[in-house]
Amino acid sequence: MNGLGDVAKRSISLRHDIRDDGGFFVVEALRCKECGKRYPLEARFSCEECWGPLEVAYDFSDLDAESVRRKIQAGPASIWRYADFLPFETRPRSALPTGMTPLVRADRLAERLGIRELWVKNDAANPTHSFKDRVVSVAIPKAQELGFEVVACASTGNLANAVAAHAAAAGLQSYVFVPADLEEQKILATGVYGTRLVAVRGNYDAVNRLCTQLSGERDWAFVNVNVRPYYAEGSKTVAFEVAEQLGFEAPDRVVVPIASGSLFTKIARGFEEWREVGLLDDAVPVMNGAQAEGCSPVAQAYEAERDVCQPVKPDTIAKSLAIGDPADGPYAVELARRSGGGIDAVTDDEIREGIRLLAETTGIFTETAGGVTTAVLRKLAERGDIDPDERVVLVITGEGLKTLDAVRGSFAVHEIDATTSSFEETLGLDHAAAGAV
Ligand SMILES: *Cc1c(COP(=O)(O)O)cnc(C)c1O
Ligand SMILES: [Zn+2]
Repeated sequence: MNGLGDVAKRSISLRHDIRDDGGFFVVEALRCKECGKRYPLEARFSCEECWGPLEVAYDFSDLDAESVRRKIQAGPASIWRYADFLPFETRPRSALPTGMTPLVRADRLAERLGIRELWVKNDAANPTHSFKDRVVSVAIPKAQELGFEVVACASTGNLANAVAAHAAAAGLQSYVFVPADLEEQKILATGVYGTRLVAVRGNYDAVNRLCTQLSGERDWAFVNVNVRPYYAEGSKTVAFEVAEQLGFEAPDRVVVPIASGSLFTKIARGFEEWREVGLLDDAVPVMNGAQAEGCSPVAQAYEAERDVCQPVKPDTIAKSLAIGDPADGPYAVELARRSGGGIDAVTDDEIREGIRLLAETTGIFTETAGGVTTAVLRKLAERGDIDPDERVVLVITGEGLKTLDAVRGSFAVHEIDATTSSFEETLGLDHAAAGAV
């Protein structure tokens, strides 16, 4: 019932041990986000006292900022350069290196929106072309360390791609569960890796319920269910990279898409951890969350000044963000308030325009989720929410080739005969004489 079958009891012992008083000697444990109860590092995702979600807790008090910074700079060009902030004793080896995606200055987009300094973090440049490589790169080695031989996931699309690919690279069997109406590009880019691809007749929330049930019955690591606390840690590396790429400085504002709310909250956590260790002096950035109006339970809760999210039935082209009952929704609302940011929603038409705006001004083609983020950035700028001297980061989480339908029909294709006159006529150009420059 509770999804904590035998799997939950599986535990490994690292440098930790439970003390008589219930505390840990150690650097790492699982901790309930609600009541603070601690658990050993095992495949467990909710608290047996209060059902609150669990997260990985660290003790950074022994870390010295200067030596950590040197270690990072000497590390591999992947998320493993931040291994001190990830839940492993020793750095796992991964065959598909994730992370160190480009942070590009977007002056022309900034100018269009009236922003002084704008950067785009392009996470489409990951091995399976979305930020989900980050979470899977942490979840799969953790699952292996915990002794699992089969990995699985409930996916809105990109997670399916990432689990199938990283499982193939690690030589693990995988089961990937997606809503049956997923974009064809994402189905094709998942099945190719030889995973067992299961299309569930229902929306993501139904897929997630099924997987939660299965995780209680089968000895499998569902990356975003029973090993979710580890999975979520991977998202912090977006913040680490952005800060490192800005020369160990935090931006003033970050705009991030929200599905379950995990990425949004973990990016802030990443900045907080670096501040705690002394790698950053700056305050945590203003955090702006972005949702599609057709699935905006977190934006609605924020708007109505509620703490909990009322589940919704998703209906939007932004399928990768279509979670109607978001696990980390309340934490996302709380973070938006605490950081002085907000959570906005945009229509499907605004999403399509956002995709075009980003592509035309930066040369970056994003999937619908990036259209959501870009459209929300535009909204913030038009509303005058962004101060003229701010340094803003726009997080682009996925690749446009995976949601091609979103741009179909949004531009003209000039079909001509293979003659110069047909070319000139069709495009309305003056005749250019031979030899003219
Ligand atoms: C999964 C996903 C997100 C956000 O996911 P969270 O559940 O909020 O962590 C954002 N963008 C894309 C493209 C995704 O696939
Ligand atoms: Zn608890």
